[in-house]
Parts: sequence; C-alpha cells; structure tokens
Amino acid sequence: MFNFSLKQLSDLLAAKKISSAELTSEFLGRINRLNPHYNAFITVKNDASLQQARAADSKIAQGLAQPLTGIPVAQKDIFCTKDWLTTCGSQILSNFTAPYDAHVVERFKETGMVNLGKTNMDEFAMGSSNETSYYRPVKNPWDVKAVPGGSSGGSAAAVAARMAPAAIGTDTGGSIRQPAALCGISGIKPTYGVVSRYGMIAFASSLDQGGPMARSAEDLALMLNVMAGFDARDSTSLKRPPEDYTRDLAKPLAGLKIGLPREYFAEGLSDDVARAVEAAVGQYRKLGATTVEISLPNTKLSIPVYYVLAPAEASSNLSRYDGVRYGYRAPQYNDLLDMYRKTRAEGFGAEVKRRILIGTYVLSHGYYDAYYLKAQKLRRLIAQDFLEAFKKCDVIMGPTSPTTAFNLGEKSGDPVQMYLSDIYTIGVNLAGLPGMSIPCGFGNKKLPVGLHIIGNYFSEGHMLNIAHQYQLATDWHMRNPEGV
Ligand code: GLN
Repeated sequence: MFNFSLKQLSDLLAAKKISSAELTSEFLGRINRLNPHYNAFITVKNDASLQQARAADSKIAQGLAQPLTGIPVAQKDIFCTKDWLTTCGSQILSNFTAPYDAHVVERFKETGMVNLGKTNMDEFAMGSSNETSYYRPVKNPWDVKAVPGGSSGGSAAAVAARMAPAAIGTDTGGSIRQPAALCGISGIKPTYGVVSRYGMIAFASSLDQGGPMARSAEDLALMLNVMAGFDARDSTSLKRPPEDYTRDLAKPLAGLKIGLPREYFAEGLSDDVARAVEAAVGQYRKLGATTVEISLPNTKLSIPVYYVLAPAEASSNLSRYDGVRYGYRAPQYNDLLDMYRKTRAEGFGAEVKRRILIGTYVLSHGYYDAYYLKAQKLRRLIAQDFLEAFKKCDVIMGPTSPTTAFNLGEKSGDPVQMYLSDIYTIGVNLAGLPGMSIPCGFGNKKLPVGLHIIGNYFSEGHMLNIAHQYQLATDWHMRNPEGV
C-alpha cells in the first residue's frame, strides 16, 4: 500500500476497501518507525491526524468525497497550520504555534485531506541541503550519508521513504525541484501566483511559490487541483478560471518540440547526470518529440542576481510593504528580524545571518543602485531569455541539479559551492515560470538523477502531460531506496 499512487489510494477509499483512519495510522506507524533514521519530520501528532482522518471517513460515508478526501499528506514546516507547531526550521520559532491556516492548508482541510506531520527544512528555506535546519539535517533515504537537498528536504525524504504518499514544499530558487531530484521523486513549482502564499512564511516574496511533491506527475496533478486557485489575501494570487490539471495527462507527445539549453549542458555538469538526462531526452524522441538546441545566455548571472534580490527581500522591510506590493501576510520573518536587530538575540543560524548582512548591504545608501537596482534589471534580461527560447520550442529540458546528492558536510563550509547547486533552477524563479523535476535514472553512486522540465507561463497542464507520458514509458519514479 505504501507504494500506491494517490489515485489508487483514492479509489480504495471511495470503494470503502480502506478507511482514512486505517490509511493514516499505517503511515503514522511508518513515520514513527522510520523517522528516527531520516529526521524528515519536525512534528508528528498522531491523535490530531487520526481525528482529521475520522472526519474524512464520515465525509466519505455521507457521499461528500472529493478526489483526495481522506488522503494523508506531509506539510513543509513553512506552512502555518492552526494549532500545530510551525517552526520554519528555526530556533526562533521553536515554540510558535500557528494561530491560523495557510491558504493551502485550508484547501486541504476543505477537501478532507489529513495532515500527517510537519516536515524538516532549511532554516527559513535558506539552503540547498537541509543542513541549515535548527532541527538537525534530514538524511537522504537513498544514502544516509548524503543530503536530501533543500530547502524542502524533509518533504522529499518523507515521500522517497514512503512515509507519506505526497507532500507540499515551497520553491524560491529550487527548493521543490532540487530535493525532488536528489531524492528520486517528482515535484512541480507552478507559475508564480498560481498557488496562494497566504500563511506561507515568506523568504523572498517575489520568488516564493508553493507546490506539490509526490511520486508521479499524475499525483502532482491531483494535488495541484486542490492547491491552485485565487485567494484575495495574497495580492499576487492570480484570478484565473480553475483548471483540471489532469485533463491533458493522456495526450500523446507526437510533434512536441523540446529546447535543450546549451548553457545547461556545459562545464559544471557531472558526467553521470548528463548521461541520465541525455537518455531521458532520447526516450522523449521515441515518444515522438524533436529537439532543438537553444541558448539562455544569462544563465550564469542567475546566481549572483538571486543572491542580491532574495536576501534583500528577506532582510529589508520591502516585504513588509508586501501588504501592498506582494500581499505578504504571515507571522513574520521581518518582525523576527526586528527583534533580532534590537536584542541581538541568538536564534538565527549562520546562513540566515549571512543573508541578513548581504541583504542589508545591497539595500544600503550608495549600494542600492549598484546592486539592488542592477540585479532587478538583470532579472528582466534573464526572463527575456526564456521568452526568446519559447519562440523556438514548447518546453525546455535539462538537468535539475549539476550533481546527484552530495555528502553531508561536503559543501556546508563553502556557500558558493552550495549556491551553485541551484544554477539550473534559479532562473525559473527569477522569471516566474513553472518548473518541475522528475526522476530519470541513477548516477555513478546509484543516487537518483532529476530531469528538469521548464514550461511557459501557465503551461502546468502540458508539463504534467509531458512528464506523465514519460512515466508511462519508464519506471524510474517507481524505484524505492534499498530497505524502503
Ligand atoms: N537554495 C536556495 C537558497 O538557499 C533556494 C532555496 C529555496 O528555494 N527556498 O536560497
């Protein structure tokens, strides 16, 4: 049962072959047994989860079930969950109980989905390895010496070790896609504005976007059907007609034009990752796609631009004006920051402090034009590269991350090396485009490789179709780590 898809589990629930309470307690049992090995969860509350499951069962009994009613999912600890500890991976929030639900959490509750627990993450989502978490790093289920990626590493490891059938994460510069790649699961960051940020503790508001993480593209589509949609409490939430993200899953791919950016297959990409990605592209050709080489010339600027803009948004009160500019509403990092500045209280880890310094510096008098404004201009150029590319292709493919999972401690002493692990994902956030990662094989160390699929604005339905067709033809997404 732990290997069943959301669709299969939903069918079992609908046919009353299993109850949500049974399903939930099976997963909780598994979490209680396996979590000590992986540290994927910060908070688990058996009773609260089972209570939600029983409520879902009565909903099903009354004939009020929706597609995911009764399905248990794990939630990254960045989402405010009413009456649950919500730490954002930080010591400073180690006793913060959220007084309200994030929009996404509300949607899950309305559907009758069950919260299995809050997952571990890099502190305030700043990191690519989960090593910045105050709650100790998560371990990769494929190799406990390796990192799970970050910042949504707990969610990725929970799904990879089958402690949860699906989970939610957030992606500011790659935090859904990179851990999905390193843990051998699927994940999608939707177009900026498709999923409300209300109640998602902000990192950098013009980049943050929540999204689902699961085994397969089909499961991601089912999750996105619940998560997406307009919410007036986030002023960047987009008012668009609701979509059924499963609608195009079955479409054949004949005629699909895939763009392969020269810059994504260049220096820095390890051979084993390149081989797996090229084999995946070969599989797409068999499915009827053609490929064209494209160029995203400003790729190398994406990391420096991001590391000016993201820290600036995080550490200034720009985000506080978000009530107007970005609709930023969560307990707030900025308020905590004020508290930190006033009291010099310990409570933030080294990476967060580093970002506060960078952010304060690039926004200060005399440096604002040279750094912050310049970065804003370059951000526009990076977005334009993608728009040019989409004149030549329907979708862009490449590696999600330059290497497979690296070892714990391997990059934690060298921020630049750590930042470089997001070289292929960050441009997508800067442009506000949708991006996803699906498993496409294994590297030299028998660790998973992720295929990165980048689509044009609002093409999530098509991207999920492209991923699903690949998953019908391959079984990488069905592989389990040894011992799992
Ligand atoms: N690794 C990147 C960072 O540290 C991106 C993190 C994210 O997407 N939240 O900022």
